Amino acid sequence: RHKVELHTDRRDELGELAASITTLSDDLERLKNERNEFLASISHELRTPLTYLKGYADIISRGDISGNERNEYIEIIREETEQLVVLVKNLFELAKMDQNRFIINKENVVFGNLIHTITERIRPALEEKNITFSVRCPSHINAHIDPERIQQVLLNILDNAKKHTSQGKRISLEVSQNKRDIITMISDEGEGIPEEDLPYIFERLYRVEKSRSRLSGGTGLGLAIAKEIVEFHGGTIKVRSKLGEGTSFIMTLQRGDSHE
Ligand code: ADP
Repeated sequence: RHKVELHTDRRDELGELAASITTLSDDLERLKNERNEFLASISHELRTPLTYLKGYADIISRGDISGNERNEYIEIIREETEQLVVLVKNLFELAKMDQNRFIINKENVVFGNLIHTITERIRPALEEKNITFSVRCPSHINAHIDPERIQQVLLNILDNAKKHTSQGKRISLEVSQNKRDIITMISDEGEGIPEEDLPYIFERLYRVEKSRSRLSGGTGLGLAIAKEIVEFHGGTIKVRSKLGEGTSFIMTLQRGDSHE
């Protein structure tokens, strides 16, 4: 009797093993598909600016254009090249994150000072667009973070907010804290994000309006990198948005003084 039970156990074990191998191979298949899709998107992202570069370089080298046109095309070549450099830099950064070779240098910082630095950096660009910018941050919050990286995240969100908010509207940045977390919310009164796009906006190379955001200089990698950076800190980043009303990004980081 004992023997039979052992056999049954064994069969169960084998069954479980077979089931997990099936799951594993499904996972592998999914990963392979994702990687292929990502590579296809990257090829597209690289090909588009390269086509522009070649096209304009050809026109200039033919030489039958006015000085003004020539300058205009050289300017386009310069902008497209800059965009390519950013794209490649961002892809490289994500590759490092995937291989866990991404380094964050955490230190104790006064969060309010960091927010001050960030807001002063973005303020001129917002003023230029006549956007009202309000900032609220308690002065005594301590954080244990990589200040450069968190600055990169917040500037990216603010830059997106600026891009998608029209003249005369508002953007606000508010910091609060509870026992565990520091919560930073950046809200804009911009165009908002369609509900069907919301689940995907942190995905690599995802853009809401493909061609328009490419022309405004976006690579579709900003939010993917922001999310990775925040998660490397053990935090979270979320979005809420209503089309035509505005968008809020909420970044939550653990407080510096609670786990040091
Ligand atoms: P991009 O480099 O194209 O800006 P991101 O990863 O930074 O890429 O953002 C992904 C997409 O999310 C953008 O293409 C944009 O359409 C949308 N998005 C991000 N922030 C906002 C915002 N504040 N308002 C409206 N749309 C936004």
